Amino acid sequence: MEAHGFAPRRRSASVDIDGVTVGGGHPIVVQSMTNTDTADSDATAIQVARLAHAGSELVRVTVNTPAAAAAVPEIVRKVRGLGAAVPIVGDFHYNGHKLLRDYPEAARALAKYRINPGNVGPGRHHDDQFSQIVRVAIENDKPVRIGVNWGSLDQEVLAELMDANAHLEIPRAAREVMIEAIVESAIRSAELAEATGLAHDRIVLSAKVSGVPDLVEVYRRLAARGDYALHLGLTEAGMGMKGIVASSAGLSLLLAEGIGDTIRVSITPEPGGDRTEEVAVAQQVLQSLGLRSFMPQVSSCPGCGRTTSSYFQELARDIQSYLRDQMPEWRESHPGVEDLRVAVMGCVVNGPGESKHADIGISLPGTFEDPVAPVFIDGALDRTLRGDHIAAEFKAILDGYVERRFPALGVASRI
Ligand code: SF4
Repeated sequence: MEAHGFAPRRRSASVDIDGVTVGGGHPIVVQSMTNTDTADSDATAIQVARLAHAGSELVRVTVNTPAAAAAVPEIVRKVRGLGAAVPIVGDFHYNGHKLLRDYPEAARALAKYRINPGNVGPGRHHDDQFSQIVRVAIENDKPVRIGVNWGSLDQEVLAELMDANAHLEIPRAAREVMIEAIVESAIRSAELAEATGLAHDRIVLSAKVSGVPDLVEVYRRLAARGDYALHLGLTEAGMGMKGIVASSAGLSLLLAEGIGDTIRVSITPEPGGDRTEEVAVAQQVLQSLGLRSFMPQVSSCPGCGRTTSSYFQELARDIQSYLRDQMPEWRESHPGVEDLRVAVMGCVVNGPGESKHADIGISLPGTFEDPVAPVFIDGALDRTLRGDHIAAEFKAILDGYVERRFPALGVASRI
């Protein structure tokens, strides 16, 4: 699907991650991260498979201890046994150089390594330990993400730039210097990785902060500093609506400028909540911007004083969940169905108009209107529903439309 009205995608290097391509103009990749104890290979493999099933195209696991590193090959085997081919990325801090050296099977099993240059080692050890990880990546032909985070920014880079700033005739604001330090840390680390021998097209960069204006500024500058593939994400975005809205705002501003090759939405789940929510949000951001299609989209009006019963909201929710439930099968059997547009509208004011713009739409009767629900297909009035079974009849019409418009693949063509 083409995005309209946005800046063209920034040219970036194309990075292959076990068959998933990030950058180089390829579709923007959705990724996520587990929150299980990686040493628990069963729980982690199940969560990786669930994230993949939800649509995550890369899944990262933390590799923080010898037990976690030892579990990695087992996790990869179990994930494959669960039918998921998703590349699994290792997230390293502090001891990555040791773990990758001591657990070569883990180094081979992972599809990519994430290195945080702020957490790679202090002082004189920094460059050496960073290069040790890069050398393991080269030996195993793995790409690397250099992931700067302002919560663990390389203090030496920051101190150097703060010092230089203090000597300026008119020193810049501390925020300015911090943004520069974040970008500088990412670029210098990428240059060190290349000087160590890692190919340019084996490097992805990220530089995450938790405020939207800062995020936009950081990535604009990073994008201007070269053609490295960029991983976007607002870090520590927060919980619930705040995290979703803040992530969507930050990512959308950058994606509309053509910046970003892969995205992750870092929302804090409710206790016991569903980790796959971050995948659904990332997909919805891309689909709302017209950059990719994952799910049929339901347009529904907010309702107002013309819709005095809750029937309209119930139907909108019912259709939305019906489409979500059908998708695992439809995605396989009815290719293209993810582009379907459905409208569920509350009354005659905007109902028929919005329904005509959708592929298939229904306009329910508002208060004081005739108790009939016109159904529009491909812009034309198809029929009028009435009575107690409007929801079931509309779903049957939807099924028929999907069958006709996105013909089922035969068994032979699925093999
Ligand atoms: S379409 Fe009708 S019910 Fe929905 S918001 Fe507009 S006026 Fe209200």
